[in-house]
Amino acid sequence: MNQSHILEILSSLQALVTESHIVYTSGKHGSSYINKDALYPHSAETSQLCRLFAEYFAQDAIDIVIAPALGGIILSQWTAHHLSQLHKREVLALYAEKIEGTKDFVIKRGYDKLLPGKNVLVLEDVLTTGGSVKKVIELVRTHGGNVAGLGVLCNRGGVTQEEVGSVPKLQALVSVSLEAWEPEHCPLCAQDIPINTNVGKGREFLEQKKKSY
Ligand SMILES: [Zn+2]
Repeated sequence: MNQSHILEILSSLQALVTESHIVYTSGKHGSSYINKDALYPHSAETSQLCRLFAEYFAQDAIDIVIAPALGGIILSQWTAHHLSQLHKREVLALYAEKIEGTKDFVIKRGYDKLLPGKNVLVLEDVLTTGGSVKKVIELVRTHGGNVAGLGVLCNRGGVTQEEVGSVPKLQALVSVSLEAWEPEHCPLCAQDIPINTNVGKGREFLEQKKKSY
């Protein structure tokens, strides 16, 4: 599967919109929009994308896949399933979860005891700053797992493998620009490119603009 096929899957579900004119919740404008939650209800498409993770990391002798909850659980399950099929041996699917009221993660439920000495693939849906997944990577290492790589659905912050704890491999299915502008400095507005009213806050922005005339 090539990049355009991946984009096609995500676009058809409105999980990803690129080369558009989007109004974000923050009020800023930009050209791309990602909504991972629009992907997960569709198990066939989710499975297809996770198959790609399995293929990308097929040579890395992965024993365990782990991802941060909640969305990550779905990625972890499907990818471990495909790796198990590829290798004809069981690859485990685990998840790390947020410690309530904090931004920190924990690996509990006995999953931490499965990690020592194992090759671990870490997954994340959207990489913006990489902060959350970096914590999961550190946790895996603390529990004695060997982080073999990081797979992400979408790298929207241009995050590098060094920034997330120097993982040996970082594979993003798609990379999109995070660049955003205040409306008055928006180059897309300046070029009169129509605002996307299907996703984000485009419709509200246009209604507000109409009122102010
Ligand atoms: Zn604009």
